[in-house]
Amino acid sequence: MTEDKKGMAIGIDLGTTYSCVAVWQQQHNRVQIIHNDQGNNTTPSCVAFTEHERLIGDAAKNQAASNPENTIFDAKRLIGRKYSDPFVQKDKMLWPFKVVAGVKDKPIISVKYKGQEKSLCAEEISSMVLSKMRDIAEAYLQKPVKNAVVTVPAYFNDSQRKATMDAGAIIGLNVIRIINEPTAAAIAYGLDTRNDCVGERNIFVFDFGGGTFDVSILTIENKVFQVKATAGNTHLGGEDIDDRMMNYFVEEMKRKRKVDIGGNPRALRRLRSACEKAKRTLSHAVTANIEVDNLFQDIDLCSSMTRAKFEEINMELFEECMETVDRCLKDAKMDKSSVHDVVLVGGSSRIPKMQQLLEDFFNGKDLCKSLNPDEAVAYGAAVQAALLTEGIKNVPDLVLKDVTPLSLGVSVQGDLMNVVIPRNTTIPITKKQVIETLEDDQYSVWLPVCEGERAKGSDNNLLGSITISGLPPAPRGYSFDLTFTIDENGILSVSAEDKVTGNWEEVIISNNKGRLSKAEISKMIKEAENYKSEDEKFLKKTNAMNDLDYHVYKIGKALKREDISSKLCSKEKEDIMDKISRVTDILDRRDEMEDIVAIEYFLKDLKAIDEQIMVLEKVGKRKRES
Ligand code: AMP
Repeated sequence: MTEDKKGMAIGIDLGTTYSCVAVWQQQHNRVQIIHNDQGNNTTPSCVAFTEHERLIGDAAKNQAASNPENTIFDAKRLIGRKYSDPFVQKDKMLWPFKVVAGVKDKPIISVKYKGQEKSLCAEEISSMVLSKMRDIAEAYLQKPVKNAVVTVPAYFNDSQRKATMDAGAIIGLNVIRIINEPTAAAIAYGLDTRNDCVGERNIFVFDFGGGTFDVSILTIENKVFQVKATAGNTHLGGEDIDDRMMNYFVEEMKRKRKVDIGGNPRALRRLRSACEKAKRTLSHAVTANIEVDNLFQDIDLCSSMTRAKFEEINMELFEECMETVDRCLKDAKMDKSSVHDVVLVGGSSRIPKMQQLLEDFFNGKDLCKSLNPDEAVAYGAAVQAALLTEGIKNVPDLVLKDVTPLSLGVSVQGDLMNVVIPRNTTIPITKKQVIETLEDDQYSVWLPVCEGERAKGSDNNLLGSITISGLPPAPRGYSFDLTFTIDENGILSVSAEDKVTGNWEEVIISNNKGRLSKAEISKMIKEAENYKSEDEKFLKKTNAMNDLDYHVYKIGKALKREDISSKLCSKEKEDIMDKISRVTDILDRRDEMEDIVAIEYFLKDLKAIDEQIMVLEKVGKRKRES
């Protein structure tokens, strides 16, 4: 990562379902959440491909029901994972778009774009969402943005973090720091309440979003925000709740209407939207109706769900959240009575049952709902972005000390997980461990690098491996140093050094996990530029076509007016009619028309005619007035 500390830096909350962008405004001493072109502070993390264009955000989500196979959402659930990951296999069943296995078991999304099959990886989809968020910020700030702090779930592992950085690289966005979502929310909360509190405060952040669930315990004292422990599930969120509701109605349709909509992407997409809407309703009402006309084979879905039923089908998920809450407190070695504030973040934290379970757990404590759960993470990211940028004034003074969510180590003799850096260690950190050879005259040692909490190395997540060779002949027990370093972004590098021979190796951890290579990223950068220029071309063409359409209408109407028509000679009228007819022909073939020069040529002509008509109008008006 190059830490370019100059220029504008924004904070991006790259969410599973929605994303949000914010910036520190030094002239007003505050964070500005930036709204998109629709006036919304959050933008769907959704990308769609059509016969003619690529759409990102609201425009993509709005056409999802009519183009389900080519509308991609949930890319964050795929990022940094293998195709064979059981979570990917499970999600795949309910996604209307196609996911296949690529090289190195990387999941590849297959779409149809401009009539051709296109293969994309999760990083590319995320890069498109990031580019939309950057565009939103640039439109607001009226200047280019090069740098960003991007948030990730605290429980994201090494490969998921690296893949998120790669997503930035694809669109030339310099990700100056990756920070954890609950920590970012804690910044927002801490800054909001800093003036009202004295001394040390223990904050519990409960971040339940669209696709991920994270909890963190932080101690805030003066300017230091120290994370004590973090726990979570990178595959648990509002989408899982939607899935359970969908399954419920799929079964109901089977039972009551004897149809199975399971294999129909369009029906599933429409049912998902209806379920998500009903879920939101159930956060403030006790019953929600679900009505989808003509859902499948001319059959309407007309049903309802009570809050009690909703809670029953999702209880397992809520309980899983509460187990994580308990584990986090245990890891922090903190009693729940020592927690001063329980802060809610993420859209799914609005669910009443979830709030009730949390309140009961903390012995009836009032939960802090003062933060906007959709914007708090981007808010914190914007503060961190300003702190990392040179020359930004009036940024709140704070020091962030985060932790690593998973234990990291090597698998040693007997497949034992030898932990080098235990989970919840404050980062950045460098730790050394001495490793010994197992045989006499051992020339080289190969060690798998793993992350996770299981005792058996192979039960953990394999990140890669390190080999040190050229060891001198020596009896078993010859030792060398193994060094693990985690940087501020939570990203790991591992090296091994034999001090006697001076041999040194650094591991490229991500090879085994299918991280993008430099060449692949370069290729994707080119493709991203192509997509961008195609989008711009499409926009230019569409705007020109719409302009043509407008002028044809306006001129046509003017020609029908006697006061205008009478002032044109028959040759002029003939010429105008000829042009109108040619343009109408172009408008009828608008999808095939690619020649923007021709379109602009006709547009120039029509504008000139329009001006001529306006002059005639003015002359007529002046005559009438005199
Ligand atoms: P986030 O990732 O924080 O943007 O959260 C998005 C998730 O929150 C989605 O799954 C939404 O369906 C869910 N959500 C938003 N508002 C509500 C609500 N009022 N009740 C329940 N879930 C909600």
